[in-house]
Amino acid sequence: MDAFAYRDGRYHAENVAIRRIADAVGTPFYCYSRTAIEARYDALAESLKGLDALVCYAVKANSNQALIRLLADRGAGADVVSEGELRRALLAGIPASKIVFSGVAKTLREIEFALAQDIRHFNVESEQELHAISATAVRLDKTARVAFRINPDIDAGTHEKISTGKSENKFGIAVTRVESVYRQALELPGIEVCGVDLHIGSQIMTLGPFEAAYSRVAELAQALRDAGHGISTIDLGGGLGIDYDEEHTAPSVADYAAVVEKTVGHLSCKIIVEPGRWLVGNAGVLVGRVIYTKSNGSTNFLIIDAAMNDFLRPSMYDAHHTIVGEQSSAAPEKLYDIVGPVCETGDTFARKRKLPAMEPGELIVIEGAGAYGSVMASSYNTRPLVPEVLVDGDEFGIIRERPDYDSIIALDIPWTATR
Ligand SMILES: *Cc1c(COP(=O)(O)O)cnc(C)c1O
Repeated sequence: MDAFAYRDGRYHAENVAIRRIADAVGTPFYCYSRTAIEARYDALAESLKGLDALVCYAVKANSNQALIRLLADRGAGADVVSEGELRRALLAGIPASKIVFSGVAKTLREIEFALAQDIRHFNVESEQELHAISATAVRLDKTARVAFRINPDIDAGTHEKISTGKSENKFGIAVTRVESVYRQALELPGIEVCGVDLHIGSQIMTLGPFEAAYSRVAELAQALRDAGHGISTIDLGGGLGIDYDEEHTAPSVADYAAVVEKTVGHLSCKIIVEPGRWLVGNAGVLVGRVIYTKSNGSTNFLIIDAAMNDFLRPSMYDAHHTIVGEQSSAAPEKLYDIVGPVCETGDTFARKRKLPAMEPGELIVIEGAGAYGSVMASSYNTRPLVPEVLVDGDEFGIIRERPDYDSIIALDIPWTATR
């Protein structure tokens, strides 16, 4: 079943008319499909069945408690990149033993908290970070399990802002430094080396970069083992792309799993994958309402009540998202620039998009908004953070309220002198 589709001419999430939710919640809002998320997780788990694999959901893609809980109930672990995300994963029911802590620079406070929770392992990104983890572990009388994030110097062929596996990117440890870093780790107190890690980027649409990077990491793992290091875990990161439009087709998850098997399957390691976007990206939409239409010269503008602060991907990554009217319409098509009300030209969701003519008050749906949507939202222009709704079959429920203006403004407090 397609989680989002027209029925009798109206856009539905599962069996719930989007219009019904808009009446209850107001616009704009994010809407997710439980069925879609669970189906994705199940398909991935099924593809990896023959391997000793753990799916650690990359919480940064969408960290709503209700969504993490759906995945936790299915046995997922979590990949977190901050103390806040670690707290979210734990509160949503993911056991610490299934949580890995990634990220370029963990602070002492974050390391302390993660050690106190006894998380599965840290993915370490620099020698200084390794030393910080060792010192903290000694102070707390703990042992930190660590894997090192390798920078394999591989071009993921994706947007430059989400490309992370090239040597000029800030991520990971250069292949040339790997041997020396692992040797240091052997000697440091409070550290137990458990594996190798990498993550080469996001929205990767061909398997070639994965295959190249995973092969490189497999060779490294073997060499490290030969040198006496305890390599029992291979963490392959996330990055598998999804279809945002009809023209581009992402690799199938079965083919992705075949690459995993082929490249690292022989090492008899615990294999960790960290998908974010792939699990939730197409399981969510952003729904807004047309406020006004206008034409400036040759350009027709559709001005909607969602904006770049609610959904940053088009302005941040030049991302293409399918945008449709809530009502299937036989009106003649027009070319629209679909924009928000924020005072920046960057507040544009799409340019020269063909849509049946729309009128103020009509609902509009931005598809593929489940990942890196709500989590990147801000209250720029003092626009309240967008609420989130989860649909399950015939039912829907609010999983994050729209804050009221008083509570937004009350975050500021009157100035008083502090000495
Ligand atoms: C962002 C990130 C992921 C998830 O990436 P997706 O493209 O959403 O799958 C996984 N691991 C790490 C370390 C990340 O930074």
